[in-house]
Amino acid sequence: MKVYYDKDANLDIVKGKKIAVIGYGSQGHAHANNLKESGMDVIVAEYPKGGDNWTKAEKAGHAVMMTADAVKAASVIMILLPDEMQADIYNEQIAPHINPGSYVGFAHGFNIHYNQIVPAEDINVFMVAPKGPGHTVRNEYVNGGGVPCLIAIEKDPSGDTKEVALAYASGVGGGRSGIIETSFREETETDLFGEQAVLCGGATALVQTGFEVLVEAGYAPEMAYFECLHELKLIVDLLYEGGIANMRYSISNTAEFGDFTRGPRIINEDTKDEMRQILSEIQTGEFAREWILETKANKPVLNALRRLGAEHPIEEVGDRLRGMMSWIGKDKLVDKTKN
Ligand code: NDP
Ligand code: MG
Repeated sequence: MKVYYDKDANLDIVKGKKIAVIGYGSQGHAHANNLKESGMDVIVAEYPKGGDNWTKAEKAGHAVMMTADAVKAASVIMILLPDEMQADIYNEQIAPHINPGSYVGFAHGFNIHYNQIVPAEDINVFMVAPKGPGHTVRNEYVNGGGVPCLIAIEKDPSGDTKEVALAYASGVGGGRSGIIETSFREETETDLFGEQAVLCGGATALVQTGFEVLVEAGYAPEMAYFECLHELKLIVDLLYEGGIANMRYSISNTAEFGDFTRGPRIINEDTKDEMRQILSEIQTGEFAREWILETKANKPVLNALRRLGAEHPIEEVGDRLRGMMSWIGKDKLVDKTKN
């Protein structure tokens, strides 16, 4: 696997072009600010005019405009809208105004891979996907580092789309830690699998189920919260820093023995079969169809699941306990007045 760094990127190729960052949310604020501080010519598109995010972008010193106007003014167009809104906005506000030979970028391959957006033949299509939440992408850059980025090229009628993607990724800070080349298909399918099976779906189901078992057995919810949720961060920090062996080096021998002998009973062959099934639903487009239809129906299932999730007892006890641990709120990555 080839890894690129700042030295492999020629920022001048993008410095001569105007970049429109469409959407000033989690990723959008990070891309727009990092690119600008890397010396690039950035404009931001937001909606509604004068809304919260529009104002945040203006306060950060950006020229902010409506999407159609930003697209007319730019030749590199980075689409950082919620995935489920991208196709409609592309067809209604981007495609009719796009300059011939423009470069259209994404931070996730979903809409291109599943054919929700089909750009015209003369449009270059690339991906720069930072492997981290937008607030971390910004925070790392400000601290002199950068979150690793994936790049991918889907269409290259101009013949230099990879150079543009590398320069963009470098401007976002990715070249400080590594830029890895992939394809839209690989990024989309592995990203969906990771968030469903392990990072979001797998982790939250594991935490909630462990909490429920302890509480149903009569233990205090506060104890269950500490054991099953709070301490997860400490374990994940060790995993992040040095892998599984590093974590096992740090925990007690008792914990390590329980880890080796009990872990595979929790995540067993049945769980693995279910993971394979989830992967196959991603590969066949079944998950994409379900999610696209859900958004077209105004997200009834997502809204109900959000409500039920918020009503789970782990949230009530968590709110109370976090209120007692004042350090958790210090130096938060997410400050809703700014980003
Ligand atoms: P967010 O929801 O955080 O941001 C989207 C932004 O678009 C919001 O500021 C929203 O404003 C704005 N917006 C909504 N409608 C319009 C419109 N009609 N015209 C202009 N702007 C509009 O999205 P994310 O940053 O999470 O995701 C963006 C992309 O990045 C997605 O493709 C996602 O998959 C990808 N990605 C996201 C990561 C993350 O860290 N979240 C990680 C890696 C990739 P408002 O809030 O007012 O509606
Ligand atoms: Mg993801």
